Amino acid sequence: MLLEKNISAVKERIKQAALISGRKPEDIKLLAVTKTQNIDTIQEALENGIKFIAENKVQEAEKKIPLLRGKFSEFHFIGHLQSNKIKHIIKLKPVLIHSIDKYSTAKKLNTYLAKNSLTQDILIEVNTSGEASKFGIKSESALQLISSISQLENIRIKGLMTIGLFTSDESKIRGCFKELRKLSEQLKKNDLANTEMKYLSMGMTNDFEIAIEEGANIVRIGTAVFGTRNY
Ligand SMILES: *Cc1c(COP(=O)(O)O)cnc(C)c1O
Repeated sequence: MLLEKNISAVKERIKQAALISGRKPEDIKLLAVTKTQNIDTIQEALENGIKFIAENKVQEAEKKIPLLRGKFSEFHFIGHLQSNKIKHIIKLKPVLIHSIDKYSTAKKLNTYLAKNSLTQDILIEVNTSGEASKFGIKSESALQLISSISQLENIRIKGLMTIGLFTSDESKIRGCFKELRKLSEQLKKNDLANTEMKYLSMGMTNDFEIAIEEGANIVRIGTAVFGTRNY
């Protein structure tokens, strides 16, 4: 009951932000971030309008995703991927891995995929906030990283992901999202192999409307759907 209300409120806010910026609401994918949520809660969300779910920890996803199979239409992985967890995450068949920021991880991922005759769609995580605590490649190094990863034949680069600066200063948050969008437009011109700048994954509970105004077509929302997390 509670989740139903939350979900329709989030969808309405996405719709308004899309309309304000001259975009189609249906072009924006709502990913419900299910980290820390139990199976019953996730199931309730899936019965009340959520289709796409995302986790940020491989071990947690391994426990939950197999139990939810058939009930969601897409599972995305949005957390930092350690190279020793590659096999584990690929077995869960993520539609998209949002968070590749190192060539060494991509290379190991490609080796595993090639051995198993698989391909995988990924996004490159970019650090637009300058916060050292966050993962992601810096914008100025992104072209070089993406050029290298584009040579890996079992990986398809589908766009970029970022986490906005955590601040109440809206102009700084907007600056992060503008930077990601600009970078994706530059990368489009490079016409790299296996690379398509289709997705901008940006915007969370506190900033998704700003992200949509700046061009996000995937938003990753936890708190506004499920309430405050209990770790
Ligand atoms: C937790 C998380 C989110 C969702 O955060 P909320 O503020 O709860 O909406 C989005 N993206 C990533 C990468 C996360 O880890």
